[in-house]
Amino acid sequence: MTELPARRLLLVHAHPDDESINNGATMARYAAEGARVTLVTCTLGERGEVIPPELGHLAGAALGAHRHRELADAARELGVDDVRLLGGAGRYQDSGMTGLADNDDPGCLWQADVDAAAAHLVEVVREVRPQVLVTYDDHGGYGHPDHIQAHRIAMRAADLAADPAFGPGLGAPWRIARVYWNRVPRDVAEAAFALLEGELPGLPFDKAASVGDVPGVVPAERITTAVDGTAYAAAKAAAMRAHATQIEVAAPYFALSNRLAQPLFTTEYYELVRGEGADGHGSDLFAGLGEAS
Ligand SMILES: [Zn+2]
Repeated sequence: MTELPARRLLLVHAHPDDESINNGATMARYAAEGARVTLVTCTLGERGEVIPPELGHLAGAALGAHRHRELADAARELGVDDVRLLGGAGRYQDSGMTGLADNDDPGCLWQADVDAAAAHLVEVVREVRPQVLVTYDDHGGYGHPDHIQAHRIAMRAADLAADPAFGPGLGAPWRIARVYWNRVPRDVAEAAFALLEGELPGLPFDKAASVGDVPGVVPAERITTAVDGTAYAAAKAAAMRAHATQIEVAAPYFALSNRLAQPLFTTEYYELVRGEGADGHGSDLFAGLGEAS
């Protein structure tokens, strides 16, 4: 077996752009520090709304192919070279927002069998053997069906990967030491939006989003780990810019297709939900894990 770097981080996301928005600074930092950073994205975001008018003709598979390239560009900006699409590119399609008929499309991620989808991820887990898994909470951070499903698939894969009875052809069992969910502490979000209100006149956005638009906001006491990615702010902004169909960046702010400005966080926050070792004020996702094999 080829030798793996000592620290290995796996992130599971729903669409191209989610990784850069949620974890761009974290990914850049750990990659720069020599960790193996593996991103598994579940869909190509074929139903995303396109911001630049000149790309407005892109839809469906053509948009997916374009966003696949945006994802590759973003990963390059972050220094991450291990990016995979769950089950291969195009295996699972974007489900669209809650309540749309798109959610009923048999090829969409929302309709996927969780165990079957998780089996694809188990294969990655057993190959990469990450000590740390990062994904969304059980509400998908903000309720998007694909984010909820990505959560379910990631959590299920963590269980199945460790089960010696599951998928003997998918590699040797591997227990992921820690699982974290993406979070933003409410006080941090409120302070950032207060600052944003004052700066709005100088920004290319007409209105501000609100704290309720930020995924994963929870009371500060639930945060176990804050990863300071200040040194990687430029990389994160560049990665977000690479997703030009989805994001408009005016660092330290950005907007999605709704054109509502929101803060671009370069310290990224996590809640440890499985595993031990976080004392409530950690600054490193791997703290105390040692040189785990
Ligand atoms: Zn998404």
